[in-house]
Amino acid sequence: MDQIIVEDLQVYAYHGVYQQENEKGQNFYVSVILDTDTRAAGMEDDLGLSTNYGVVCRFLHSFLTEHTYKLIETAAEKAAEALLLQFPHVRQVTMELKKPEAPIPFPFGSVSVRITRGWRRVYIACGSNIGDRRVHLNNAVDALLSDKKCRVLRVSDWVETTPYGGVEQADFLNGALSIETLYTPEELLEMLQAVEKKEARERKERWGPRTLDLDILLYEGSVRDTKLLTIPHRDMKNRDFVLKPLAQIAPYEIHPILGKSILELLEAVEAEGEKHILSED
Ligand code: ATP
Ligand code: CA
Ligand code: CA
Repeated sequence: MDQIIVEDLQVYAYHGVYQQENEKGQNFYVSVILDTDTRAAGMEDDLGLSTNYGVVCRFLHSFLTEHTYKLIETAAEKAAEALLLQFPHVRQVTMELKKPEAPIPFPFGSVSVRITRGWRRVYIACGSNIGDRRVHLNNAVDALLSDKKCRVLRVSDWVETTPYGGVEQADFLNGALSIETLYTPEELLEMLQAVEKKEARERKERWGPRTLDLDILLYEGSVRDTKLLTIPHRDMKNRDFVLKPLAQIAPYEIHPILGKSILELLEAVEAEGEKHILSED
């Protein structure tokens, strides 16, 4: 990815743990590396197709003077997020915030924090088999659309499917979504669970009936297995009702552990497994 780089922009600001720092202020220096695509702007010689570094500098200067935080960790975190929300072509930012006049009673060059934050591509499975299933699924899409830390990219058709996991219950409507998000996987799970809750989801039995189920399938090539979260979703390779809508929006996405595309996984499960899909809309 191309990069636009700003080094050591000077900002007189008031971040610090000590009252004196908040009152008197001191110099901070901020550097950013913006991951972006400069090809179109470069070919056309058109600033309108790029991210204007002058505007970026003014934005950072205003942000860091208008807000006051105790920690440079927080100042960097908030400034990076604001920047990603403000400049649509920037996919990722690495930001270093230096505090060379920090109150440390020894000679030193500078202290700083450096963080990397960005938009992450995520695939989500959704399902419903209670109430107005279509409304529950559409409400889930609306909730993601109205969250500024998510950008909805694609939504599959909803597919009518028979239940999975041996619990006697009504048929499901299932689908898949792709989004880009600034949330970490854990934050995204929390957000999705809040959306489920809003649709009156009650957690009773696993694989039981539900108004809305939102599972994280893939998160930007990440692999993790904690008590809270398994990514990629542990059972996605066995589920035609997950792979079929996912193949509609991301057929060539690669499963980071199995090393196979979604289309290959779908073909494998269709070749061997029991069928759950009744119809597509
Ligand atoms: P399944 O996960 O097999 O589809 P389910 O969706 O019915 O089953 P839930 O009751 O909705 O299961 O979720 C149980 C727990 O699964 C959640 O509280 C969450 O912590 C955990 N979990 C683990 N990995 C994921 C993931 N990738 N996406 C969503 N939840 C996950
Ligand atoms: Ca599920
Ligand atoms: Ca779930």
